Amino acid sequence: MSQIEQLLKYQQEDEKLIKIEQETASSEERKKYMQAKSFMTKAPEKLDQIDAKAAELERMAARLGAAYEELSEALKDFDALDEMVEEGANVSFYKKSALSLQEKIKSLKGEINALTANVKSVDEEYKALKKKVISMQKQYKESHAVYTAYKEQKKKEMAVIEAELKELAKSIDPAIFAKYQTKRSERIFPIICEVKADRCSKCGIELSLAGKESLASREVVECENCHRFLYKK
Ligand SMILES: [Zn+2]
Repeated sequence: MSQIEQLLKYQQEDEKLIKIEQETASSEERKKYMQAKSFMTKAPEKLDQIDAKAAELERMAARLGAAYEELSEALKDFDALDEMVEEGANVSFYKKSALSLQEKIKSLKGEINALTANVKSVDEEYKALKKKVISMQKQYKESHAVYTAYKEQKKKEMAVIEAELKELAKSIDPAIFAKYQTKRSERIFPIICEVKADRCSKCGIELSLAGKESLASREVVECENCHRFLYKK
C-alpha cells in the first residue's frame, strides 16, 4: 500500500474521531452544563450590582429622612400661628412661608414615591435572581453529572478508534504523519483531497508542473494553496 493510501485509510478512521469530538462539543448535554456554569460564574457579579443599588437607595432614604426632619421642624413654627396673628404678626409673611413649605413637602413626597418604586424594583430583581440561582444550582449539579457520564461514554468510543489509529499510524512515514497531525490540529479537514483535472478538489488551485510530476511518481504532494495532501484516483 502506498503512503497516500495509508494516509487515506488513517483519515477515514480519524474522521470517526472528529465526528465524535464535534458531537460532544455541540451536544445538548454540554450546552446545558455550560449554560449553568456560565450563569453560576456570573451570579456573584450580578449580586454585587444589586448590593450597590441597594446601598445607593439606602443613602437616598437617609437623605430624604433628613429633609423630612427639617420640614417637621419648620412646621412647628406654625403651631402657635393663631396666637401670633392675634398679637399682630405679619400674616402675609407666614402665608408665603406656608406656601414654600407646601412646595417642599410636595417635592419630598414625589422623591419618596420614586424611592419606594426603586426599592420595590430592586427587591424584585433580587428575588428573581435568588430564584434563578436556586434553579441554576440544581441544573448545574444535574447537568454536570449528565455531561460527565456522556463524556465517559464518548471516551470509551474514542478509545476504540484511537487504538485503531495507533495501529494505522505505524505504516505511515513519521515525517508525513507529523505533518498530518499539524494540519489536524489546525482544524483542516479533510486533510487528504482528490485531484480532479489537475486541480485540488478542495480549493480549486491547479497543481504546478513539479506537483504533477511528483503526483505521477506516487509521492506525497501538498496543495500549494490550502496545504492539504493530494491524491489521484
Ligand atoms: Zn488546495
